[in-house]
Amino acid sequence: MNFDLDKITRENVKGLKPYSSARDEYVSDGSTMVFLDANENPFENGTNRYPDPQQRSLKAVLAAQKGIQEGNILLGNGSDEVLDLLFRAFCEPAKDNIITLPPTYGMYQVLSGINSVENRTVLLDADFQPNVDAILAVADNNSKLMFLCSPNNPTGNGISTQKISRLLTAFKGLVVIDEAYIDFSTEESWVSKLSEYPNLVVTQTLSKAYGMAGIRLGMCMASTEIIAVLNKIKPPYNVNELTQQSALQRVSDPKAVQQEVNLILGERQRLHTALETVSFVSKVYPSDANFILAKVDNATLRYNQLVDQGIVVRNRTTQPLCENTMRFTVGTPEENKKLITALTSLV
Ligand SMILES: *Cc1c(COP(=O)(O)O)cnc(C)c1O
Repeated sequence: MNFDLDKITRENVKGLKPYSSARDEYVSDGSTMVFLDANENPFENGTNRYPDPQQRSLKAVLAAQKGIQEGNILLGNGSDEVLDLLFRAFCEPAKDNIITLPPTYGMYQVLSGINSVENRTVLLDADFQPNVDAILAVADNNSKLMFLCSPNNPTGNGISTQKISRLLTAFKGLVVIDEAYIDFSTEESWVSKLSEYPNLVVTQTLSKAYGMAGIRLGMCMASTEIIAVLNKIKPPYNVNELTQQSALQRVSDPKAVQQEVNLILGERQRLHTALETVSFVSKVYPSDANFILAKVDNATLRYNQLVDQGIVVRNRTTQPLCENTMRFTVGTPEENKKLITALTSLV
């Protein structure tokens, strides 16, 4: 194995010690301890105290569910914060580069711009799978992160397990698998492979299947060594108290989440079938996520027509390999019916 975490960590980050906040030492557990250490207002109202900087209660539940240790998890203000922390820990601005595989999630490109890190793009092939040889050919000693989105947004397909294995083995930087949609997929999460690949990072989120986009809770799962590096640069109170409480409540009821996921999967199938009957739809792509990509005659025209009927979907026509495609999020049964009725009525 040719992976060396020390080699890919930024020099300034190596020397950092995590900021030690008052709440790192003791967390209020409703006991009789007197907390006069953090200059908080002492009158209880539910949020007068700083939140646990390590989100211990929430991580305990997540670790048990995912079969890993709490030390394998870092939580963030959405996975977008987690992705940004990866840039800041490993990518030297104006020197290092990342590799992304369009068409894919737009945030990788946005974060590369913000952090002044070159984004080397290698298009997916016609089946929306990675071209492994072409990817490895653009990688050099300054390639620190590779982003694989599986299931991929906006195409909806999972990335081939074999190809991911090859990339994990050959790439000298971190391979970040963005599993925002994994709960809708038939594929197994890569979290179970963390001990096999020291350069594997898996990100997940409560924003999609868990129905909690509003609270902003993202997860990063990796070796304890990688998580320790990220902990050095994470803002101490990046996950607020209300988010920790709502997240804990939600993940403690996996049956309720699974019920909604099952409903969405049923609707996805129905929507797929219905889309195939729409006259101007020429292709409906198979989806492992909670959205469906479809090719139409004129995506911009159809997008505007739907907006006129009060339905907002995503026009993906400017994305590479996605000319005249639209991305439909699977909604409630009523919403999907409205969408299909609207699409069928268009001329
Ligand atoms: C929606 C989405 C996310 C979620 O980001 P959050 O910041 O956790 O809401 C992450 N990755 C992809 C590919 C997504 O589509």
